[in-house]
Amino acid sequence: MIEVLEAAYPPARAESWDAVGLVSGDPGQGVRRVLFAVDPVAAVAAEALEWEADLIVTHHPLYLRGTTSVAATTPKGRLIRTLIKNDIALYTAHTNADVANPGVSDALARAVGLVGDLVPLQSFPDDPWRGLGRIGELPGEVTLGEFAAQAAEGLPRTSAGVRVAGDLSRPVRRVAVSGGAGDSLLETAKAAGVDVFLTADLRHHPASEFVESGGPALVDAAHWATEWPWLDSAASILRASGVNVETRVSATVTDAWTRGY
Ligand SMILES: [Zn+2]
Repeated sequence: MIEVLEAAYPPARAESWDAVGLVSGDPGQGVRRVLFAVDPVAAVAAEALEWEADLIVTHHPLYLRGTTSVAATTPKGRLIRTLIKNDIALYTAHTNADVANPGVSDALARAVGLVGDLVPLQSFPDDPWRGLGRIGELPGEVTLGEFAAQAAEGLPRTSAGVRVAGDLSRPVRRVAVSGGAGDSLLETAKAAGVDVFLTADLRHHPASEFVESGGPALVDAAHWATEWPWLDSAASILRASGVNVETRVSATVTDAWTRGY
């Protein structure tokens, strides 16, 4: 099981600050049911318990900065205690899944309607087919407004929906996407000459200055929603490997923003 995940998402490709791999559980334990989710949070642990999952594969790490206690006095402590008491393992594929091929942004690109070949927005110097973000094309030219509506339709629904920066009637066809917080890639998207860049967690000043400077239009979606399409891709890789497990993708919305007014 872990071999399959590590072949698809090599831990060595994770950022140095990241914490990926097995968080709890025994690599030797039997696994029948695997739940895929973006966030290792209480609602996901509850879903795993109810479905009797043996393993949860999440995108986000539970512990990124280390801890000195797993006591049930903190949300993370309670979560890890629940998992261990119920023999549910937890495995994380984070930045190593972002840069994989296929990885997080491939699934995002397909979800928002990109077709044909996808290339990394920022590839590794030693591997042009792996890296952050993806660039691809829509099947035909549409307006920015039409693309944003299509992206919202293709992504799971969240309270914030998607936000657009730029002229809604602007024609778009060549698109860059990056799952999760992608503002470090703004200049790369501009240099790539795409018509629109879709990512998450964009802030006012960088977005405003980017659009004012004549860069591509921006579409900002919920962080959770941009990474969620990857779950099905990861589950498919596990099933295709021939390991005998049941997989399920959690539909629990764990985006931080739960209501828009
Ligand atoms: Zn993320």
